[in-house]
Amino acid sequence: MKKISIAIDGPSAAGKSTIAKIVAKKLDYVYIDTGAMYRCVGYYCLENNVDLHDENAVTQALDNIKIEMNSANQVFLNQEDVSAKIRHDRISMAASVVSAYQEVRNFLVLQQRQMASQGGVILDGRDIGTVVLPDAQLKIYQVASSKTRAKRRYLENLQRGLEADLDTIQKEIEQRDYQDMHRKISPLKKADDAIEIDTSDLSLEEVVDKVMELVIQKQKEG
Ligand code: C5P
Repeated sequence: MKKISIAIDGPSAAGKSTIAKIVAKKLDYVYIDTGAMYRCVGYYCLENNVDLHDENAVTQALDNIKIEMNSANQVFLNQEDVSAKIRHDRISMAASVVSAYQEVRNFLVLQQRQMASQGGVILDGRDIGTVVLPDAQLKIYQVASSKTRAKRRYLENLQRGLEADLDTIQKEIEQRDYQDMHRKISPLKKADDAIEIDTSDLSLEEVVDKVMELVIQKQKEG
């Protein structure tokens, strides 16, 4: 079967990475979690006292940031395994702040395109279908109500042993959506040729089946 490139975009906690990981496994594709890369930049700044709101300082810090990811979905920042550390809510917010900066986006988009250059990839993020891979054969825009997303993140946090307050999580998700959708550079928006899937009332299996149907259709067309 022809290997295609798949872009999954959508707001925070819409279940993009869960779906992307399962689909990548089924297809034997490489999964690239682009949000983890923005999280690494946010994490680095917080750990090294770089003021998140100082664009020049954050841009300078990029010289000291090396991000690597492996097929087990582990994330390394300057060779330290930060896979779990970057999942905290304060890192989500920091990632959203630094992701608005042009140089941060240039730095990461370049690496994302290199990683995706062989095809047979599935990337999830906010700007994959619009900026990173505008020629991706399949683009999905995955959404769910903020209430559903907050509930899912709440349960995830509990499982990971992280702090969890449903109302706070929902507020943070809504704030991050607002920031990601209203920033000047590469704001989150549905690509014209993306297919929207609302997962609010769908089970995981139903979403995976839908995506797999679309992949098979695209592979046949290809
Ligand atoms: O997907 P995740 O929630 O891990 O992303 C963290 C933050 O990184 C998002 O809120 C967004 O601000 C930023 N991001 C982005 N572009 C991407 C992926 C993530 O701006 N492609």
